[in-house]
Amino acid sequence: MKNILMIGTGGTIASQISGDALSPQLSPDELLALVPAISKLCRVECVSLFNVDSTSMTPAHWVKITQCVKDNYDKYDGFVISHGTDTMAYTAAALSYMIRGSKKPVILTGAQKPIGFDSTDSKINLLDAFTCACSDDMCGVNIVFNGRVILGTRARKTRSKSYAAFSSINYPYIATLQDGVLMQYIKPESSERPEFFTELDTNVGLIKMIPGMDFELLQFLAERKDAVIIEAFGVGGLPSYGDDKFLEIVINAIGKGKVIIMTTQVQNEGSDLAVYNVGHRLKGWRNVLEAYDMTTESALAKIMCILGQTRDSDEIRRAFYEPVAHDILYHCGEQNE
Ligand code: ASP
Repeated sequence: MKNILMIGTGGTIASQISGDALSPQLSPDELLALVPAISKLCRVECVSLFNVDSTSMTPAHWVKITQCVKDNYDKYDGFVISHGTDTMAYTAAALSYMIRGSKKPVILTGAQKPIGFDSTDSKINLLDAFTCACSDDMCGVNIVFNGRVILGTRARKTRSKSYAAFSSINYPYIATLQDGVLMQYIKPESSERPEFFTELDTNVGLIKMIPGMDFELLQFLAERKDAVIIEAFGVGGLPSYGDDKFLEIVINAIGKGKVIIMTTQVQNEGSDLAVYNVGHRLKGWRNVLEAYDMTTESALAKIMCILGQTRDSDEIRRAFYEPVAHDILYHCGEQNE
């Protein structure tokens, strides 16, 4: 039997009604006791790292989870992390960069309905998560939810209420589960020993463009942050409203060594700045990066991790375009520039 460490962090799965609303209350041991089938799959030990609604999670929580996996890596065959769904995609992306190349599965799961409710997805999601954590073919950071296995770098919460809460963006589901049977289509890359990164630069901002946006909003972020991700329209670009204020802010920021990452607010198919003049004029600036088919969650976590290691702009550029856990497919040979 395999040995799995369950790491409890909170979320709906562990929530009960207290007062008028839901808040996390149950420990991972209490969750496990409600899904006895798991004890037939593997031996489980539990650690409760914290018990929070994932709305209140910060990068400091990602560091604690990573440290916990690192400290226990040699003792267990796999890891199951119970987590709130609201920011699970951010945590999954972050852990994909912070626990790199793990050949042991690190599985995040949670639920849309608390485990104590008559109608709940908690039990099946937990059982599926343990099935994946016990599989010899599964590796690295993944979300297991509603019978789907999604790479940590490709996950996004796309439904706020129904059980099919997560989608895999610009990448196939790597496996599905039905009646406890795992059908795996893709085996992600892994290495003999994972690399752990716990230094992050969390001084990163994200802004979503709206038509007619006040340039001062971008300026505010560009002045304060080490990196700013701009979720632009369509394949990407910066607006000109009779002047070039947005472009000037970007050029000014990169002149100060800051990083600007252009991405798109369109969920599927990614950016391609080269297509239109509004985007093309940003090509060629070394500190302007493009997310292409990466999720915003991954672009954010990746740049935090990269800036935690280096301030060298060539190295930042190289590391950003280097695929990690299949996070970026389409990069136009940028890394060879
Ligand atoms: N607000 C909850 C959380 O993210 C939602 C959930 O877990 O489904 O912690």
